[in-house]
Amino acid sequence: MSITLYSKFRFSCHKGLKCFTRCCRNVNIFLTPYDVLRMKNRTGVQSDEFLKKYTKALVSSSFSLPVVLLKMKDDEDKSCPFLTNGGCSIYEDRPWSCRMYPLDKDIEDDEYKLIVGEDFCLGLKEGKEWIVEDWFEDQGLIPYDTYNQLFNQIVNAESSWGNKVPDKSVIDMFYMTCYNIDKFRGFVFNSSFLNLFEVDEGLKERIRVDDPELLKFGFKWLRFGLLGEKNLLIKESALKKKKK
Ligand code: SF4
Ligand code: SF4
Repeated sequence: MSITLYSKFRFSCHKGLKCFTRCCRNVNIFLTPYDVLRMKNRTGVQSDEFLKKYTKALVSSSFSLPVVLLKMKDDEDKSCPFLTNGGCSIYEDRPWSCRMYPLDKDIEDDEYKLIVGEDFCLGLKEGKEWIVEDWFEDQGLIPYDTYNQLFNQIVNAESSWGNKVPDKSVIDMFYMTCYNIDKFRGFVFNSSFLNLFEVDEGLKERIRVDDPELLKFGFKWLRFGLLGEKNLLIKESALKKKKK
């Protein structure tokens, strides 16, 4: 059955259900750059530490850019490290997939699908009826979709690079910009980056302190570097130096 933004579905998740937190165990959760940013700020650690402690990066043979997975605990249940007896300890900053659950987006088109049945997710048997669009708003998905669209513009263009697999330095740069926002800030402000690119003072001040703004800037820079978009200006002084 196809599910669109305007479809109706019955769902309610609450502590009274027997299945409460069942879906937070032994599950593959891919994290988007915006997920990582929100979760790392929630946990109050630097990006390096967050990535090391809570994630693992994978590079598949069909997709040369790394993807980041939430690392489940090494216990019998393989439970999420943020799961407590009371539920999700980072609920306000939980990742996109957890907000979408039990729905997921069909990659092929603009439709959605249920990824579990009523036997696993008892919330689907509850009486509360939603229109999918209203459910997404209720789950706080709108800012996530904004950043995910910017990210997808980059990864979806990967096929247009031809058969050329990016070299390690490009992969490292992609990973840092998308997932290690604190390191990317250090790169922008402590390397020759700002001697090379024109960045107006207002934007410079915003990206110095504002992680989401810096992530947006990082996506722009990746489009410049990877997709060849002319969306950043190289400084005259840098061009002259290059000519010499
Ligand atoms: S399985 Fe469904 S109803 Fe049960 S806790 Fe997970 S989302 Fe909620
Ligand atoms: S982040 Fe929260 S909602 Fe998502 S799997 Fe972990 S405990 Fe569950």
